[in-house]
Amino acid sequence: MRIARAHVLVGVDEEARLAGVERVLSALRKKLAELGLADEVQVVETGTLGLSGRGVVLVVYPEGVYYAGVTPEAAEEIAEEHLLKGRPVERLRLPPQAPVVAPRRLLGRQTRVVLRNCGLIDPEDIEDYIATGGYEALSRALQRRPEELIREIKSAGLRGRGGAGFPTGIKWEAVARAAGPEKYVICNADEGEPGTFKDRLILEGDTHKLIEGMLLAGYAVGAHKGYVYIRGEYVLSIARMERAIAQAREYGLLGEDILESGYSFDLEVRPGAGAYVCGEETSLIESLEGKRGWPRLRPPFPVTYGLWGKPTVVNNVETLANVPEIVFRGADWFRTLGTSSCPGTKVFMLLGHVQFPGLVEVEMGTPLRTLVYELGGGPPEGARVKGVLVGGAAGAFLSPEDLDVRLDFDSMREMAAALGSGAILVFDQSVCMVDMLGSVLRFFRHESCGQCTPCRVGTDALVRLLDSIRNGEGDEGILELMMEITDTMNLASLCPLGQSVALPVGTALSRFRGEFQRHLEGGECPRCRQSEGALT
Ligand code: SF4
Repeated sequence: MRIARAHVLVGVDEEARLAGVERVLSALRKKLAELGLADEVQVVETGTLGLSGRGVVLVVYPEGVYYAGVTPEAAEEIAEEHLLKGRPVERLRLPPQAPVVAPRRLLGRQTRVVLRNCGLIDPEDIEDYIATGGYEALSRALQRRPEELIREIKSAGLRGRGGAGFPTGIKWEAVARAAGPEKYVICNADEGEPGTFKDRLILEGDTHKLIEGMLLAGYAVGAHKGYVYIRGEYVLSIARMERAIAQAREYGLLGEDILESGYSFDLEVRPGAGAYVCGEETSLIESLEGKRGWPRLRPPFPVTYGLWGKPTVVNNVETLANVPEIVFRGADWFRTLGTSSCPGTKVFMLLGHVQFPGLVEVEMGTPLRTLVYELGGGPPEGARVKGVLVGGAAGAFLSPEDLDVRLDFDSMREMAAALGSGAILVFDQSVCMVDMLGSVLRFFRHESCGQCTPCRVGTDALVRLLDSIRNGEGDEGILELMMEITDTMNLASLCPLGQSVALPVGTALSRFRGEFQRHLEGGECPRCRQSEGALT
């Protein structure tokens, strides 16, 4: 086999597909063949290259030159100019400060653990994953007792990355100790918040890592069956996961007697129908059982009464993707990252008015300012940061004075905020806060499942009150009423959807109160309607 002189890694994710990556790949391969470079240059379809909103992105190695917004014609030019004549096409190159994966080192303040392989391997090729040390953690774990594995995860201090930050090892231990031989592992890949798609990119970029994480969870708790519940619109994620499961079965890594250890485990993919509430674990379980995705009353919790009434671990994609790294490198290594109470890293979607929106991974405790200004490149020229919505639609609105907050579960809780879904939306002065909050509230009204009154009625009342503010009707009492409604929702709603509305409403009204007051006073808002629908 010939060793290629150059590699072209093409980011193939859902966004790239919409931007026509298949046509780019076909033009690139055709041109390379015409130029006689087909054997010298290897084209690899990989996961996300970390940048969002820039169409098709590819990188040419060994130089590590990134190109964005690549069309079929541009791909032909890159083949001829860069790959044949050795002259990079300057007008298509990304600026050097873009937060991308550079050759042999990481740029900026990123620390890649979960995203270690994203953008570097072909996620559809199990051999690529194995070549990076993949499935080694499983092989080692199967020689240990399950309780040792749980001890390792507990001493690593891994906390669930789904938003609540609950210790993963404690959850696993509860399932392992629960009575009965039938247990399940569920991977929650049902992202439903606007602007939140980091789990999709993790799954699409390093699919086998997730399978390995689920296998390790299954072995630790004594489960023999797992389900990957993926949002139905995530077509590429579903296809890649199904392909990866088939490959893993072929290699004896799923099914009976895995690696001749006597342990058996298998996986199935279940697409969700796109309800936000199914990201809540008990709704997800109801949906998996073939019922309407409504949250269950808790307790009992899924660790004792989950899928089909059996003890069940539900972890999200990012949490499970951390597990093979911890088992492979050890709890002590993991604790060298992040903070003492929140070890490890966190993956964020950085969006909105920054120069380099995209997928980034930093150590827990990294200041928000680092993400906005170092990794995101700050706002576009001439713009100023007006605020940041941290944690997705159910997150907190922060002001520029809050940018030094550290991004970890505890620091965020101290300032009455949350890491939430991991989406960080930066917005500049062109955005109207009334419209922005309106987008958030309309989203919650649309997604409320209607099972409990505070949320069903409360979300609708909040949208109506906000419309009154926007139309300059009423007085400041409306703002107090909105706070009362969210307090009631927080106390009396059945699930986190209704409870979490208090956070965006409370933080928007406290940090940007003047803007709501000006609308009530009937002041003209030049930004109104310009920013409408920013989130929905
Ligand atoms: Fe449904 Fe909202 Fe009640 Fe949750 S809080 S159960 S989404 S109505």
